[in-house]
Amino acid sequence: MSLRQEPITKEELFDSVLERLGPEAREIIEKAYHLSDRMHGDQKRLSGEPYIIHPLNVAGLLNELRLDTAVIAAGLLHDVVEDTEYTKDDMVRDFGEEIANLVEGVTKISEIKSQSKETEAAENIRKMLVATIQDARVIIIKLADKTHNMRTLKFQPPEKALRIAKETLSVYAPIAGRLGMYSIKVELEDLAFQITHPEEFQHIRKSINLKKSEREEYIEKLKIILKQRLSDIHIDAKIEGRAKHFYSIHKKMTTKDKSFHEIFDLRAIRIITDEIRDCYGVLGIVHTLWPPVPGRFKDYVATPKTNFYQSLHTTVIGPDGKPLEVQIRTRDMNRIAEDGVAAHWAYKEGKGITSNLGAGIGPGISTNLMKDNPFRLKWLEILNSWQDSSMDSREFLEDLKFDLHEDEVFVFTPKGEIVEIAKGATVLDFAFRIHTDVGLHAKGAKVNGRMVPLRTELKSGDQVEIQTEKKSKPSPIWLRIVKTASAKQKLKQYFRRLQEENDGRNMDSIELPPSEKVIQEIQKNIRKRPRKKVGTEEKEANIIVAGIKDILVRRAACCSPIPGDEIIGFVTRGRGVSVHKKNCPTAKVQMENMQTLPVRWDGMAEPIPVQIEVRSKDVQGIYLSMVESISGTKTNIIEAGATSNDNKQLIAKFKIEIEHLDQLKEILDNLKLLPDVVYAERVKIGK
Ligand code: MN
Repeated sequence: MSLRQEPITKEELFDSVLERLGPEAREIIEKAYHLSDRMHGDQKRLSGEPYIIHPLNVAGLLNELRLDTAVIAAGLLHDVVEDTEYTKDDMVRDFGEEIANLVEGVTKISEIKSQSKETEAAENIRKMLVATIQDARVIIIKLADKTHNMRTLKFQPPEKALRIAKETLSVYAPIAGRLGMYSIKVELEDLAFQITHPEEFQHIRKSINLKKSEREEYIEKLKIILKQRLSDIHIDAKIEGRAKHFYSIHKKMTTKDKSFHEIFDLRAIRIITDEIRDCYGVLGIVHTLWPPVPGRFKDYVATPKTNFYQSLHTTVIGPDGKPLEVQIRTRDMNRIAEDGVAAHWAYKEGKGITSNLGAGIGPGISTNLMKDNPFRLKWLEILNSWQDSSMDSREFLEDLKFDLHEDEVFVFTPKGEIVEIAKGATVLDFAFRIHTDVGLHAKGAKVNGRMVPLRTELKSGDQVEIQTEKKSKPSPIWLRIVKTASAKQKLKQYFRRLQEENDGRNMDSIELPPSEKVIQEIQKNIRKRPRKKVGTEEKEANIIVAGIKDILVRRAACCSPIPGDEIIGFVTRGRGVSVHKKNCPTAKVQMENMQTLPVRWDGMAEPIPVQIEVRSKDVQGIYLSMVESISGTKTNIIEAGATSNDNKQLIAKFKIEIEHLDQLKEILDNLKLLPDVVYAERVKIGK
């Protein structure tokens, strides 16, 4: 069901508020309308209409979502403080704290301006999300504001319209989706899509219209069959066809590489019942009428999504022999499916929303109860992780896009609790989701009872057990393993703290700073690091020498240190600083007669070749298992070979590219887990 498209008149709004919320509410809304109208005065929209049309329609949308008086009033007043002389104090005096705070929240979101458009969007979204910690109604008002602005986007100059449309697709629509506000999400996406891809939009629209009558006929036929069978078992249900929205068709065509017909031949209906138990009754009928497609049944009634979406989903082979998607849910579930968080904040009216979701969402919702709403608590948790203002905006936006856009997978803790996590997330993300300390001390993991690397991608239904060890510490390589914003954030915080501690320690260290002469010697050698030379031993690593970056460093060939190894540097004539492992025998000799320099690894480095040797029983398929085990960590194998000896042992050698010692450790650990492997170690290159 989509939102009403016709503009609302002030009389319509007042009448609807009176009917729904009573005479006092109507009075407040009227007062807010008149104040807004007066303050905006002869200000005009780009369409040439009086400005009040905008706040009026924003309020109309909020009323349609059945929100409370304060929200609708704030909708009417949302641009007043920003655009006119009227201050927040005036508003507190005239309308009270609650409405004034809502308006201030909305104003703050649009206030932030920063250099680039992209970071501006990121800043905005962060503010917006943080604002919901105070009151989720702020975001709902902002989305209604956005929806009306998108409806009137055609009055903006084309370039600006395009930018706004893109921002809507990347930021606002996903937020609406995340909040479960599908009616808003769908409308925002289709309005934006029309601007970003005008030709595709027209093509899809035409194609849909062509098939319209055929589709309607089909739905009618289904309705008759279903109604008959349902009345046999005394279930009264509403059956409706589901039109897919344009943008989702476009997305399926581009991401799944399907043709329009493949997508649209897939029929979809929704069946709405009165009672939860009827949902399962209907499901039974559907499955006896038409054969279900295996693996497509999902019970979101028993296991709601994080945003409290509930529904039964199944796909059957319909009467025309084509797949038919069926959604079955109660009226209240449908309301939550369309309005999402707005339904949870809606004003209690009559019976209110009944659902089996537990505390705070039972019949008779009141705003106070919302404080303990599990939905809200869940959001607090996610949003708290987004609050760190030291996070780079662009980075934040990218991580956020990942968190918002991808579908979710459901995995289980060892105790059988369900954890919802973004698709593509790894075992390590899961560890951080359970608890920061679990993440920071994660050592290994079992998925469905089997040991797996921390980088393993999670699939729905996996049962995940994280093994921790107090001594175990995060490796910089983890930054590439985690995919969710919150885990990345926690890791970055950890490394920042570590860096600060180290810097502090270095200052007090007894190690003397390099002499003047040495500094001069180093300065002579300062130059941009050369690009990495593939296939040579002198590949550059990120090493900081005496606190200075960009000094020519050479990893000594005798011990080939890799990031994570303890290292020491020596000044050489004309060849920069030579870096050895601290325990390298050559280094120990040089230490006696050469100037040493403090050196340390700096974050992630270019991959460095390393040789490993693996010995195993010479059984069939073992070599392939080794290769798979190494590749499974996304490690590049540069050279590989194997021989066998007289003891029926297979000796395999791999030259691989390593970014950090911990990556090597993971590879060796994984290899040792293979049943027939008896030995896996790093050896000198070329040996
Ligand atoms: Mn506005």
